[in-house]
Amino acid sequence: MTFTLGKGPASVGPGAPPGDEEAAQVTAPANAMGKAAGVELMSIGAFAKASRLSPKALRLYDELGLLPPARVDPFNGYRSYTTGQLERARLVAWLRRLGMPLARIREVCALEPAAAAREVRAYWAREEAGVAARRELAAFLVDHLSRKDDSAMSSTTAPLGIRYAALSDTGLVRERNQDTAYAGARLLAVADGYGEGGESAAAGAVDALRRLETDGIPAGNLLNVLEDAVELAGLAVRGVAAADAEPGKVGTTLTAMLWTGSQLALVHIGDSRAYLLRDGELFRITHDHTLVQSLIDEGRLTEAEAASHPQRSLLVRALGAPAGPHDDTPTKADFHLHDARDGDRYLLCSDGLSTVVAEDEVARVVRTVAAPEDAVRALVALANAAGGPDNVSCVVADVSSIAGPAEFSPSGD
Ligand code: MN
Repeated sequence: MTFTLGKGPASVGPGAPPGDEEAAQVTAPANAMGKAAGVELMSIGAFAKASRLSPKALRLYDELGLLPPARVDPFNGYRSYTTGQLERARLVAWLRRLGMPLARIREVCALEPAAAAREVRAYWAREEAGVAARRELAAFLVDHLSRKDDSAMSSTTAPLGIRYAALSDTGLVRERNQDTAYAGARLLAVADGYGEGGESAAAGAVDALRRLETDGIPAGNLLNVLEDAVELAGLAVRGVAAADAEPGKVGTTLTAMLWTGSQLALVHIGDSRAYLLRDGELFRITHDHTLVQSLIDEGRLTEAEAASHPQRSLLVRALGAPAGPHDDTPTKADFHLHDARDGDRYLLCSDGLSTVVAEDEVARVVRTVAAPEDAVRALVALANAAGGPDNVSCVVADVSSIAGPAEFSPSGD
C-alpha cells in the first residue's frame, strides 16, 4: 500500500520537560539529512497523540521496520515523523486493534489498497473460523458437563436406534473402486482412498473403526473412544502407505458416526461429507478439508468458482497424510458430538456424489425416498446419470426411538 503525504498542519503536543524524546519540540521546517526539507515534522509525542499509538509502540514499530520515523536526530536520537505518515500509523493502529500480528501488518502495509483489503478480509475470515471451531468445542463441553449432571434422568429416556443402508459403486469411468461404505447398528462410515493401494487405505481405516460395533463403550466416553479408534485407523493407513515408494501419496478420507443411546460422535477428515435431514431441511454438518474450501473460507473464491476449479479435489487434510511438507505428524480430524433426534436422517457420501449431483437434487432424494436402501440406490444412480466420473459411496441412516427390545445396547451396557 502506498501513502501520500498529508497536507494538514502538524499538531504539536503540549510542552514537557526538555530532554524527553516524547515531548521534544521539533523546529519546522527541518532540513537535517536534507530529506525533510519543507515538510513539517512532529515529535514522537505529538505523532503518538495524533495516531493513537503510544510512543512505546512507535519505538517498537521503528525497530521492526514497520513505521520508521522520517528523521532520527543524529545527536539525541529523537524520532520525528511527518504528517504524511499519519495514515499509515492509523492503519497500523487499527490492524493492531483487530489483533493482527505485527509481521502480517507489515505485509498488509506493503500492499496496494485493494490487495490490502483482500488480506484483511482473509485474515478476518480465518479468525472467525477459529472462533467458530472454539464455539463448537465450548458447546460440546457445556453439553458434556450438563449431561454428567442429569445422567440419572437420561436412563429413563428411550434409546434411539437406526435403520441404515450403505452402497458403494465404481462409477462409469474408474477401473477400480477405492471407496468404502459401511453401515452397522452403531457405526456408519464412508472412506475414499487415493493413491496406489488407496482401496486398502480406505478399507483399513473403516476396519479399524468396526471393532467399535462390538466393544462396550463407557457412557460419556464416546468421543474419546472414537478418537482412539481413528488414531488406529491412521496407523492402518500409514501401514498401507509404508509399502509404497512415495510416502504420503496414499491415504483416505474418513467420515464416520458412532452411536450410543441418543448420542452420536462424528469424525471427519477429507472431502467426504455428512448431512443431516431434520424437519425437512438438509444441513451439511462437515466441512471439506480441501484447498478450494479454505479459499472460499478466506473469501478468495466463490462457491461457483470453486465448482469448476481445476484443483477442487486437492485435499489439505486426509488420513495418512502428513500435516505439512516439513511436518511428519498426522493431520488432525474433526470430532463432534451430536444429539440424535427421533425422525432425523443422516447421509454420508463420498465426493463422487457431491461433485456431480447438485445439493438440492441430493436433498430431494433424501427427503422423498423412504427406505434407506432405496435412497442410497437412487443417489448412486444420480451420480452415474451425471457421468459417474468417480467412485461413489452413500450411507443413509434413519433415527427412530426403539420400541420393545433394543436393537443395540445403549451406552454403558
Ligand atoms: Mn472420490
